[in-house]
Amino acid sequence: MREPQVTPVGGLPERVTIYEVGARDGLQNESVVLDVATKIEFIHRLIASGLPAVELTSFVPPSWIPQLADAEALLAGLGTLPGRHPVLVPNQRGLDRAIASGVREIAVFASATESFAQRNLNRSRAESLEIFSAVVARGLDEGLTVRGYVSMCFGDPWEGPVEPGSVADVVEALVAMGCGDVSLGDTIGVATPGQVIDLLDRLARRAIGPERLAVHFHDTYGQALANTFVALQHGVTTVDASAGGLGGCPYAGSATGNLATEDLVWHLHGMGVETGVDLEALCRTSLWMADRLGRPSPSRTVTALASSLEATSADDAAIERREEEHHG
Ligand code: MG
Repeated sequence: MREPQVTPVGGLPERVTIYEVGARDGLQNESVVLDVATKIEFIHRLIASGLPAVELTSFVPPSWIPQLADAEALLAGLGTLPGRHPVLVPNQRGLDRAIASGVREIAVFASATESFAQRNLNRSRAESLEIFSAVVARGLDEGLTVRGYVSMCFGDPWEGPVEPGSVADVVEALVAMGCGDVSLGDTIGVATPGQVIDLLDRLARRAIGPERLAVHFHDTYGQALANTFVALQHGVTTVDASAGGLGGCPYAGSATGNLATEDLVWHLHGMGVETGVDLEALCRTSLWMADRLGRPSPSRTVTALASSLEATSADDAAIERREEEHHG
């Protein structure tokens, strides 16, 4: 089987927007640094597989994340693309660079906890929100669309449990700044469905409905799809995922990080939820990327489909050879 058998489930959205983070969140957490031509091909292949929103890179100082130090060259090489293509910006300097590269959508990355704000951004949570507030205001003035991320929403490696009211405060601050949507990140993959329902309910009570939210789950503890399912039941229609499960999380002490886009697509298509994604094309892209990175994809779906897709590729090659002989 290359596609799941479809049996619809009531109470779910008809369609989900998959927000693909492999080229940014995925590659920034891989030890192999890819050349810009490989990244350009990767992004073109992701878009060709039907993904409607593909985050491209991050305009952080090159010394912070060497994997993404080629942001300008990447944007110049990609040219004009169909769909949504945000880039991450950490500060005004990053915003300058993004604007100079012709970007139309940016994302800012806030922390739900003090510990992660200090470690990731080297500032207190409140100070980092002040910086983002100015970045978002200027981005909106420039006519850009802005997405907010909140990391460590359901657990923090230094603090342990995270108070959901405190997460809601950060989400509320990002919405008040003018972020069009806010992505709730389970950065270390520890959440279970009750926590997800609780946070969504709290946000709804603060008039932040699921149409303003996205979910960003990690599969470190095998919970990503269970958490996604309850988020869909509560009206969320944007789900972040990373092709082939690219990007282990450096803070989780595990190779398993981002939810794999292919695993998400199998889950959604099986329940009759449309995504517009060609699963086979996406799997081929992740197998190609796994070759570039020199290691197998951690995605269960990519692993399950790999042998049949490779067999087809071998058949196609044999047919092409026969046709060439015939025409030659
Ligand atoms: Mg992630």
